Amino acid sequence: MLTPQIADKGVTKHILRAFDLHASRRLGQNFLISPAVVRAVVEAAEIKEGDHVLEIGPGIGTLTQGLLEAGAEVTAVELDKKLPAVLAETLHGYEHFSLVQGDILKTDISALMGTEPFKVAANLPYYITTPILLALLEQKLPITQIVTMVQKEVAERMTASPGGKNYGALSVAVQYYTEPEIVLDVSPNCFLPAPEVDSAVIACAIRKTPAVTVKDEKLFFRVVKAAFGQRRKTLSNALKPLGVSKDMIEKALGEAKVDPGRRGETLSLKEFASIADGFAE
Ligand code: SAM
Repeated sequence: MLTPQIADKGVTKHILRAFDLHASRRLGQNFLISPAVVRAVVEAAEIKEGDHVLEIGPGIGTLTQGLLEAGAEVTAVELDKKLPAVLAETLHGYEHFSLVQGDILKTDISALMGTEPFKVAANLPYYITTPILLALLEQKLPITQIVTMVQKEVAERMTASPGGKNYGALSVAVQYYTEPEIVLDVSPNCFLPAPEVDSAVIACAIRKTPAVTVKDEKLFFRVVKAAFGQRRKTLSNALKPLGVSKDMIEKALGEAKVDPGRRGETLSLKEFASIADGFAE
């Protein structure tokens, strides 16, 4: 059985003390201290010997060690300038680890990872979860799986179905590109320091083709954004910011067989696609 040694409260405290580090709130640093959770991420990512993995925010190397022990070749991007020196120690002896110090949102992931398929594994910094996920999905990188720790509330938004309060633009984007599944609920005491929110591990298998076919992807996402931009408004009003006439909105909704009195939060991906295709014409 995989036994990642860094995933332990005493070890983590010792490493932080030895390097005179204090977990940074600003950088969303909540280090994993549960070996069971590390194992769950590694298992959900179905890591096999030689798999290429991009890890976002390796911290002191807790999840990284689990991935490396399972045989992955890990490329990690970490923003905190103090952590490369720590990782050089904590992951000393692991050959298949490389580190880039920088901001994942400013990193050319395509240049870093190349054209071969790769997986993404992370315990994401919560202050930028959504921009990171959208960047990974929208760049059409050769990613096969994204397995990550997120706030439980975000995991519920990612997997939400139409009709509920959790269903929004993030649900549509994630479900358009992937098949998301919550694999584990994680309590605050699995981290040091403990975050104020519950967390969950979510696995997103990237679809070979998007969930729905659309004529114009950019337009599809503009329609989604407009529909959820003013959630409480009916579609006939919420779609006005798209800059199209009332007649056109009614025509597109009519062709899509969607009642103009409905709200965006009730629409399936298929209905969003039909409306966007109506505008594309
Ligand atoms: N992977 C480690 C673990 O599980 O214990 C640390 C996870 S901690 C929740 C998030 C990590 O992301 C921190 O190490 C933090 O410094 C790093 N981070 C924050 N913002 C980042 C960014 N924009 N780009 C890359 N890494 C970032």
